[in-house]
Amino acid sequence: MKQADVVIVGGGMVGSLLALNLARRLCCSIVMIEAQSIDPSQGSMSELSFDGRSTALSRTTSLHLQQLGLWPEVLHHAAPITSIHVSQRGGWGRFRLDAGEEQVDAFGFVIENAGFGSVLSRAVAACPEIEVWAPCQVEQVEVQAGTTLLHVPGRMSIQTGLMVAADGAFSRLRTALGIAVEQHDYGQKAIVCNVRLSHAREGLALERFVGEEILAVLPRVDGSRALIWTAPTKQADALMRMNPTQFGRELQLRLGPALGRVYDHTKPVAYSLERIIATQQVQPGRVILGNAAHFLHPVAGQGFNLCVRDVLALVNVVEEQARLGKPLGELAALEGYVAGRRRDQQIITSFSDTLVRFFTWNQPGLMHLRSVGLAGLDIIPGSKKILARMTMGAV
Ligand SMILES: Cc1cc2nc3c(=O)[nH]c(=O)nc-3n(C[C@H](O)[C@H](O)[C@H](O)COP(=O)(O)OP(=O)(O)OC[C@H]3O[C@@H](n4cnc5c(N)ncnc54)[C@H](O)[C@@H]3O)c2cc1C
Repeated sequence: MKQADVVIVGGGMVGSLLALNLARRLCCSIVMIEAQSIDPSQGSMSELSFDGRSTALSRTTSLHLQQLGLWPEVLHHAAPITSIHVSQRGGWGRFRLDAGEEQVDAFGFVIENAGFGSVLSRAVAACPEIEVWAPCQVEQVEVQAGTTLLHVPGRMSIQTGLMVAADGAFSRLRTALGIAVEQHDYGQKAIVCNVRLSHAREGLALERFVGEEILAVLPRVDGSRALIWTAPTKQADALMRMNPTQFGRELQLRLGPALGRVYDHTKPVAYSLERIIATQQVQPGRVILGNAAHFLHPVAGQGFNLCVRDVLALVNVVEEQARLGKPLGELAALEGYVAGRRRDQQIITSFSDTLVRFFTWNQPGLMHLRSVGLAGLDIIPGSKKILARMTMGAV
């Protein structure tokens, strides 16, 4: 049987980032177990984390990646967001944020998940403190006094004083540990692809509400745009059945003329949208992290950014335990971590939820209210500052 100070199950964006942070800050043995095979040159480690999607990294996340020394590599795959426009079709209100007005260079950066994956997996591979087991899956968890024993078919069993489950929204470890979830099905899908537009302004991130649909168009480093098109499941399925010309035409209808002509797009991929929140995030010697702890609607583009702040808080707690010579997985310390993260997690969860409900409910009179809301955000002193701070990841 193998022993490790920390075992991370799941080597997606969150698991990898945690492993890197622990390796940089602590002197401890780390094993990261990932179900998918890892190819640092391709960044194709995980179909879930490192697929064809892009992720909007907040300013706080970007600063953290700079501190980790990953920024020069990240920048090869990331485009800055310098302005944000929010509007709704058929409504008169709109809301704008400009980085210059907020005295920052950028609100954040949009990174291709595949590129980000290759940066993270190369950094993990270069870290002697991190032992990667991939591809292999944890099949069984045994909880023992003060330790956790994991059974991994094809490998020896592994025992640890701190096990972190970062194995995604449908976490098997969470279930195996008897942790229930609060689950809400939005009855929506997010369609994701990259599009080319004839007049999209550099650095512009656009969010457009069209009836019950939400379209986010984000800048990409190659000049194309990342599209995240959220629609009720039935509409999304119909869009997914369309041929490329029909799909492009429907997209153009929603976007209007503001970004010019839609002249090309990659093959769309659809994701079902749910909110899944673990009712418990820590047990003695065990932590539930990332999508496994909270899987949110992507409308606010904050899911991963929230996870990064969780990772940093957890590493602080674990580092302090190590400094005091105490067990890394001591329950009191882990409970302190959860207590410290509660407010941020609640704010981001309800912000994402409210945004979805407010902009996709099809109630008479709501269009007018939404217009007032958007116009209000644009002119009420202070409201822009608050939103800009949230966008940048400073809650
Ligand atoms: C359409 C969409 C757009 C998004 N856009 C944004 C955005 O713009 N900004 C933002 O901040 N967030 C965004 N998010 C959220 C972001 O994608 C998630 O926060 C992030 O993927 C969480 O990563 P994770 O590592 O926790 O989970 P995952 O990406 O699900 O990774 C889990 C990993 O665990 C592995 N695994 C699973 N089971 C096992 C097992 N038994 N043993 C070993 N390994 C296992 C899997 O192979 C996988 O690699 C978006 C999400 C969606 C769906």
